[in-house]
Amino acid sequence: MGKITELLLHPDEFQAALQMKLFPSVLYPRDEASESADLRRCYELLNLTSRSFAAVIQQLHPELRDAISIFYIVLRGLDTVEDDMTIPLDKKVPLLRTFNEKLYEKGWTFHGSKEKDRVVLEDFDKVIIEFLNLKPDYQKVIEDITKRMGNGMADYAIDSNFARDGLETVKDYDLYCYYVAGLVGEGLTRMAIISHFGTSVLEEKPELHLAMGLFLQKTNIIRDFREDLDDNRTFYPRELWSHHVSSLKDLTDPKIYTTKGLHVLTEMTINALELVPKVLEYLDNIEEPTLFRFCAIPQVMAIATLELVFNNQHVFETNVKIRRGLACKLILLARTPKGVYDVFRLYTQKIHQRNVATDPNYLRLEILCGKIEQYIEQHYPNEKSLTKNVPPPGAAGLDSKSVAALQRETQESLMLYGAVAFAALSTCGLMIGVAYLLGADFSYSLTDVILIFKGDAPVRRVVRSATEAVTKSIIHSDL
Ligand code: MG
Repeated sequence: MGKITELLLHPDEFQAALQMKLFPSVLYPRDEASESADLRRCYELLNLTSRSFAAVIQQLHPELRDAISIFYIVLRGLDTVEDDMTIPLDKKVPLLRTFNEKLYEKGWTFHGSKEKDRVVLEDFDKVIIEFLNLKPDYQKVIEDITKRMGNGMADYAIDSNFARDGLETVKDYDLYCYYVAGLVGEGLTRMAIISHFGTSVLEEKPELHLAMGLFLQKTNIIRDFREDLDDNRTFYPRELWSHHVSSLKDLTDPKIYTTKGLHVLTEMTINALELVPKVLEYLDNIEEPTLFRFCAIPQVMAIATLELVFNNQHVFETNVKIRRGLACKLILLARTPKGVYDVFRLYTQKIHQRNVATDPNYLRLEILCGKIEQYIEQHYPNEKSLTKNVPPPGAAGLDSKSVAALQRETQESLMLYGAVAFAALSTCGLMIGVAYLLGADFSYSLTDVILIFKGDAPVRRVVRSATEAVTKSIIHSDL
């Protein structure tokens, strides 16, 4: 279905797409004139290599914007080395293990990659300059995460069993997700704590940031089943699928994937869904609006994707994705804690409703959805907590300029609603005008109008008069 048709069939998503286009709501616009040429190049690299995160990263609070951008680009460079199958292992493994050291080697670049994002490696000297301009605390986080992730990637690259058979246990699955996503969550959380944009709970409960990374990664793994299988790899752990099928290759057979394949999906969905309460608790402890948005957007996308892939045989046929308009709507909802809770409640309920009684894990899923819905009820943000991440002027996080920007954003939203209301009223007025010109009878009294709204009105008389007017006009136009 075309994108335009999709939007027309979902007017609420059309409105969201329009609102995002017309009022992008940027609290802290980048001031490119004050940036160095190298920093501008780093943002270009971000735009070139990140389809989903570039915009929301650039909208971050200035305290974190450069640090998180550089963090993203460095990890993109590392991932490019890992993904490039043309680099021989004896060259790739040492490069992955020492990638963190390159951050301090001024002028270092790498030109031996054939990957689509190789430009990051080719321009890495600029990234190094800007990395060294960051506050030392942020540098330390980026270097540490790069080192641990690079070593994890190197371990998987030389593990021939992993390459051949995929993952065995849920523990292996969690460990893999930890290396590719959990570590990113840890790095971002440490930055949130350094900037005082996150509460101390994030430090006390590391399981919360772990859940953030794992929830995203596991949802992607479930969704990308077919694409990964076509690339001769698989990340579904044997422990979760072996009760239902003898080999994951069986899941290319429609007879199997429309029955037992769906049971495998339920296992995988339950495994991911169990992380939801921790994800919500993590988000409750982010106190700065742009960081909240940055953390919440991928999570609302993930729960919507999980609902889409659950009990959906198309996962075994193609790469399923949420509609672009829906993504816009979710991005807007991810601005506030209340919006995020609403999204999680909606999609948990949808999964709950689509649970199938014949599925061997029907009961487990019933109980889990019930628990999550209960968690959401108990922790649902009240009106007060809606503003908790918008501190008053002078407080940490937002200065008076930023508060003014926030007020401007609210005004812009009101303008949009005003414009929609004006369009609706104009259309209504136009229709009444046309009806009057065609001879409609507006002589009924105010009492009649009240009776119409009460439901026991002389509606028939009104309808008859309108019908007569339309009939008359048709007759006249025919003549
Ligand atoms: Mg990779």
